[in-house]
Amino acid sequence: MNQPSFDLVLAGGRVIDPASGIDTVCDVAVKDGRIAAVGEGLAGNGAAETVDAAGLLVVPGLIDTHAHVFQHVSGRFGLNADLCGVRSGVTTLVDQGGPSCMTFPAFRHFIAEPATSRVLAFVSIYVVGGLEGHYYPELYGPGGIDVEACTRTAKSNADLVKGIKAHAESGGMSRWGLETLKLARRAGDETGLPVYVHLGQLWPERAGEEGSVDIDEAMPDIVALLREGDILAHPFTRHPGGFVSRNGQVHPVIAAALDRGLRVDVGHGSHFSFAMAQRVLEAGIRPFTVGADMHGYNTHVPHEGGTPDDHPDDEMHLFAGQTKFSLCHAMTELLAMGVPLADVVAMSTANCATAIGMSDTLGALAPGRGADVSVLRMEQGRWTLSDNSGDSIETTERITPVFCLRDGARFEADAPILPN
Ligand SMILES: [Zn+2]
Repeated sequence: MNQPSFDLVLAGGRVIDPASGIDTVCDVAVKDGRIAAVGEGLAGNGAAETVDAAGLLVVPGLIDTHAHVFQHVSGRFGLNADLCGVRSGVTTLVDQGGPSCMTFPAFRHFIAEPATSRVLAFVSIYVVGGLEGHYYPELYGPGGIDVEACTRTAKSNADLVKGIKAHAESGGMSRWGLETLKLARRAGDETGLPVYVHLGQLWPERAGEEGSVDIDEAMPDIVALLREGDILAHPFTRHPGGFVSRNGQVHPVIAAALDRGLRVDVGHGSHFSFAMAQRVLEAGIRPFTVGADMHGYNTHVPHEGGTPDDHPDDEMHLFAGQTKFSLCHAMTELLAMGVPLADVVAMSTANCATAIGMSDTLGALAPGRGADVSVLRMEQGRWTLSDNSGDSIETTERITPVFCLRDGARFEADAPILPN
């Protein structure tokens, strides 16, 4: 008997692979953990296993450009990597600023290596990294930054570190102006990596008149420090300091910044506001990547086993708004706001690979590459989507994960944090 040509064929799904220019019903074949072929009629070719994907979407493995998975180290903030990753239909996660020059060995050893999901990071510019979601502002000034150590960590962990995480928001600026962003700029220049800039107020402004900052006036200075490939995050934030100024206008400097190659990550999290998103999208500005920004403050993780007595830390959790979430849910919201499906898929696959400098290995279903594939269902029905400002919109389509392949191995989308 002949050897089967393929280990697995995903048959008859709608394959959307923006990087390869494919959007058609066809098959995806896997052999030895790699994509073997994409095309019609592969299922009849003696595959060891065929999975009927008719009616489903088959896309390159989803990449979440904004994750917080430094579990057990970043306090209540860090989620389990595989919960947000393969168990939510996502094959690659990029932790945004959890690990730092000080803690990177732990991130590699305890998080990235044991995870089934591919876990990468933008290293924190701050020596302490993203503890408790950056809860204590005084840890995050220029005195808490060591550019040389950050640069060294990035260079010696180049397989995992794909950028530098920084902030530009009024709480920090009321204390230190743009000094911390300038230091992140230096780290970006010395490593050649993109700088990811959190916009939208995070810390309370320092009390006193010299502490007060007009974040709208500061936006041109922030953007002027950024270069091609750098990433502006949380454009749709409900807090001051996003793309929409207090007078309701989209900052004119943004379009010019995108023209010179800056990129936009939604960084959904607790920031996302439908009203802000509407204004920004209407101004013709499209995010480059989605980025779910799930963390322990906006995602409730039901315990799988044990009794409440086994989990004494539970009462410390501060849940803000929605408590079940996923990258696919963030994709659903963009779809509901009128972004075409093919663009939403690009924003969670090919564009992400480009943003992290890995488009030669990730973000496409190209033969020969590792078989990272996400299989999604486009459900039809009626749902109300809500944001943390209390606004909601209606939708008739919803994207949910079914399963994914990570280097050819199959994982069901069974995370208890998935919206149902
Ligand atoms: Zn975040």
